[in-house]
Amino acid sequence: MAGKAKITIDKGEAKRRVKVIFPLLKKRYPEATIALKFSNPLELLVATILSAQCTDVRVNIVTKDLFKKYRSAADWAGAELGEIEDDIRSTGFYRNKSKNIKSGCQKIIDEFGGAVPSTMSELVSLPGVGRKTANVLLGNVFDTPGIACDTHVIRLSRRLGLSDKGNDAVKLEADLAEIVAKRHWTLFSHVMIFHGRNICKARKPDCLNCPVSKYCPSANKPKLW
Ligand code: SF4
Repeated sequence: MAGKAKITIDKGEAKRRVKVIFPLLKKRYPEATIALKFSNPLELLVATILSAQCTDVRVNIVTKDLFKKYRSAADWAGAELGEIEDDIRSTGFYRNKSKNIKSGCQKIIDEFGGAVPSTMSELVSLPGVGRKTANVLLGNVFDTPGIACDTHVIRLSRRLGLSDKGNDAVKLEADLAEIVAKRHWTLFSHVMIFHGRNICKARKPDCLNCPVSKYCPSANKPKLW
């Protein structure tokens, strides 16, 4: 992150820090879970694609009616692109999102028998699906641990001295995978996202009310935010 002072990372120390802060964050956010609303893997896939550069609240408003209209991969693949664009316009970047959803659903029909695939390599083969989206799917509908490196996880990992990989989400995910026990990957992502939304906000983290400030190298140090 340009302009920020650098935090030195020691892997062993980062691992010990995770062991202390993860239970504290879990305690603070017992309700931490995915904010997107869905009832099956296809709905979560579409909602996650729509959530790029858009709030989960807005996505949930849009998908409430959307998921009544489009119930299967065939519904999406068979729809006119322009109609999908109109239906998802308010989530932003609607042209790309529409293209990815329509062609992704066609691929799901052609190559995966109409069902959203359940492995990382298959998921990232879908258009518009990167590791973050794939990990959201793995962790929340396929019972496979996944670290979803969204903007909050990226920012908090730097502030908490867990990784120095900056905005490189793929390298950050690899760093976190080394220091967070695999069985906790999905919940770890959720509590970090909750903490980023509620306390460790981008512009002004509320270090005074932070349950992990005692262990955070950035606590009350604006130059590190
Ligand atoms: S102490 Fe401050 S910078 Fe560190 S995690 Fe808490 S809110 Fe974020």
